[in-house]
Amino acid sequence: MKLTEMRQILSSGQIQLTKSLGQNFLHDQNQLRRIVDAAELTNTDQVLEIGPGLGPLTELLIARAGTVLAIEKDRRLVDFLRQYLATATNLTLLGDDALDYVRREPRDWANWKLVANLPYSVASPILVELAQARSCPQRIVVTLQLEVARRLMARTDDDDYGILSLLMQLRYEPQNHFKIPPECFFPPPDVDSACVVLIRREQPLLPTEQHPMFERLVKLSFSQRRKMMLKLLKRDWPVEKLTAAFEQLGLSPQIRAEKVSLEQFARLTELLETK
Ligand code: SAM
Repeated sequence: MKLTEMRQILSSGQIQLTKSLGQNFLHDQNQLRRIVDAAELTNTDQVLEIGPGLGPLTELLIARAGTVLAIEKDRRLVDFLRQYLATATNLTLLGDDALDYVRREPRDWANWKLVANLPYSVASPILVELAQARSCPQRIVVTLQLEVARRLMARTDDDDYGILSLLMQLRYEPQNHFKIPPECFFPPPDVDSACVVLIRREQPLLPTEQHPMFERLVKLSFSQRRKMMLKLLKRDWPVEKLTAAFEQLGLSPQIRAEKVSLEQFARLTELLETK
């Protein structure tokens, strides 16, 4: 769908944009193609799209994937898409809040790819929810605010390194990203955007049963960024156990969470988990 067609649909009065739903539609055909290429789709792939909007990405997904499940919260857009994409036999369109849906309907996403231009206000909770699913999607190709993209990819010592980086990277390896300028969207958003590609790790860093403990450890460690991590963790673990674990990993007792790598957080989870 080109910009002229988008403007026409929107100006015909059928649909008025709702800012709180992050309705900035992507019309730049080159960027749309780059996103779909990054998904490396085959005709057997199952794709989850969150927030199809007016369907510019959906059109390309249904042409290249096996099946597409698209979840859109705005009923007016769902009604429009039901007509616009009426002939697509491999598309299931749901009118729902995607975050509620993934929380309410736990399922095996292992053979799915998430490909979406996410509504910016709920992008992070949706990503974390899917990444924490027992069987998480094999590949994630999402467009979101550049600031959030940086957090997804950040490593130890980066300014953006924190809870989101660690919760996502426990399951996924950031592969690459590319920026998408505001003028590629209609209307142009106030912030810069980027498309990020995340690949599910072949070898899990921790068994699934230990993921809740990893999350608890990471959240407490970053609860006050400038404070020493060991001091923060004393709230939930005995100091002797913490001191022994830090020593075993060669971590200084004065270290702050931003200096501790993903692998060190994973090893610390294992050490603190043992009785
Ligand atoms: N995919 C389209 C595109 O690339 O042009 C639209 C992307 S737009 C950034 C985000 C879309 O997500 C909007 O259509 C909006 O209505 C929808 N949306 C917002 N919050 C949602 C939610 N919680 N669940 C599902 N869709 C949502």
